[in-house]
Amino acid sequence: KNTGKNKSLHYEPEHEKANAAAYIQLETELRKAIQEDQLTLYYQPRLELSTGQIICLEALVRWNHPVHGIIPPGEFIPLAEESGLILPLGEWVLRHACMQKKKWLEAGIINYQLAVNISPCQFQEHDFADKVIRVIDQMHIDPSFLEFEITESTIMHNMDKTVSILERLCDYGISISIDDFGIGYSSLSYLKHFPINCLKIDRSFVKNIHNNHSDLAITHAIIHLGHTLNLQVVAEGVEELSQLEILRETKCNTIQGYLLSPPISAQELELLIACKALS
Ligand code: C2E
Ligand code: CA
Ligand code: CA
Ligand code: CA
Repeated sequence: KNTGKNKSLHYEPEHEKANAAAYIQLETELRKAIQEDQLTLYYQPRLELSTGQIICLEALVRWNHPVHGIIPPGEFIPLAEESGLILPLGEWVLRHACMQKKKWLEAGIINYQLAVNISPCQFQEHDFADKVIRVIDQMHIDPSFLEFEITESTIMHNMDKTVSILERLCDYGISISIDDFGIGYSSLSYLKHFPINCLKIDRSFVKNIHNNHSDLAITHAIIHLGHTLNLQVVAEGVEELSQLEILRETKCNTIQGYLLSPPISAQELELLIACKALS
């Protein structure tokens, strides 16, 4: 699409025919973006409520487009998944998250875990775990600093295959969290069998915990479930103090959200940490 800065580049699969030319153009541009490092990672801190410390950063990809500026992932991840470009894109994200981590370690400034989002398509690759291990080994980085965020749909897609990949990643030292927990499939039995460390309560529940009884009840139930199974629980999308207070009372372990910080660039994050150290 030939869009201006404020218009959407969003690709909608149902309009595939009408937009065939636009699709191909965007796909070509995205392929180029991956090769030419037009992608960039933003980081959103995750705060531990019991200590008030940041313990993890979620890496979230952006496309720094030469004409359109910063494009959010919702506008190109679906295209990447449909075209297969998610595989090189996912590898780019992992590699760059590791490179950034290494830089921060060497500078001695930021020592948190890094959470990386993994698309269901990546899990379907026969050699996904091998690739991951190769990339991390090459970087000489301790895999235990890494967490992969996967969704319930990834797990449900091919449970036997997924469990063997997760077990390999877990043996290697990577932690696993379930992203958008609660909006996916209803079966919970996988929680017993899979090497999972953490549940991330979907933002749609957290959004109304301070004024909707059902959302509060569901959030409560997820926290309780998580703790019973010995899992960490993260609340996503915390925007207001009243939500934070409720999550603190219900013993949620950690929070992410605009209240603390939106996703920010590595540079902005370094500034934020430096200011925190001074205060
Ligand atoms: P997600 O993994 O559920 O990430 C959380 C999204 O919620 C992020 O949007 C974040 O900016 C936004 N968010 C965080 N706190 C708040 C809040 O307090 N209020 C509201 N309204 N929103 C909040 P973002 O960065 O646009 O990412 C959207 C989605 O794109 C992600 O959802 C994830 O599914 C996907 N994504 C992002 N980066 C990657 C990546 O590197 N690989 C893959 N496969 N997917 C990615
Ligand atoms: Ca996520
Ligand atoms: Ca999420
Ligand atoms: Ca998501």
